[in-house]
Amino acid sequence: MKITFLGTGVAIPQPGRVQSGMIIEIDSKPILFDCGGGVLNRIFESSYDHTDIDTIVLSHLHLDHVSDVLCLIKANWLCDKTDVTIYGPKGTQQWISGLLEVYDYMQGNVDISVTEVAAGEVFAPDGVNCNITCASGVHSVPSLGYRIESGGATVVYSGDTEPCGPIMNLCGDVDVLVHECSFPIGFEVTNHTTPDMLAGYMDEHGQDINVDRLYLTHLYPHMQGHEGESVELLQQYFKRGAWVASDLLEIEV
Ligand SMILES: [Zn+2]
Ligand SMILES: [Zn+2]
Repeated sequence: MKITFLGTGVAIPQPGRVQSGMIIEIDSKPILFDCGGGVLNRIFESSYDHTDIDTIVLSHLHLDHVSDVLCLIKANWLCDKTDVTIYGPKGTQQWISGLLEVYDYMQGNVDISVTEVAAGEVFAPDGVNCNITCASGVHSVPSLGYRIESGGATVVYSGDTEPCGPIMNLCGDVDVLVHECSFPIGFEVTNHTTPDMLAGYMDEHGQDINVDRLYLTHLYPHMQGHEGESVELLQQYFKRGAWVASDLLEIEV
């Protein structure tokens, strides 16, 4: 597998980080996880073409994770790529149907298939040799995290969440954990993660968690200048260490 981080930021703009999105490539097939604002342009800047993308997996429907989905579908349509399959939590079908009511000129021109998934389910996009397991995060709206397994490699993506049992229970024998880290050490927050919240979780439950590498993503502007101390605090809990992801960073898994 190969991970390409496209957007490692959030709803508030900041230099160098667009909203959420990453590609996980499995057997040469790129699967897009989340597609917030700016991600379509990051795909252009990456080693992929936007028309390569016909499979999208959404963690939740907050704007910073979905606002470029219809833009991507439109861009693909203009380049004669009209089919797309979207996996996402309950509400994804209604969300897409609502958009197509507003942008009714797209109806009949694009072929959008939506599959709603739920915590505990395992799915595999058509023709992709993998298992994707869903778990619920702790967030202000229903949000899913995913464990992606293929060919002996495993990646977990937390979606938006506090450090929590359902997501971390996906983390037995994992090569890469991509966990959100919205705010710096000591910041008081719920429904999101700070480095000390994740460290606290690992102190309590780390014996059950077996992860090679941690990559932090979903950084608010508040995290600027606090990347080093975050990595320093967290690297001890992960076999090969911890990093802060950046837009367009590629890692082999
Ligand atoms: Zn969110
Ligand atoms: Zn978010």
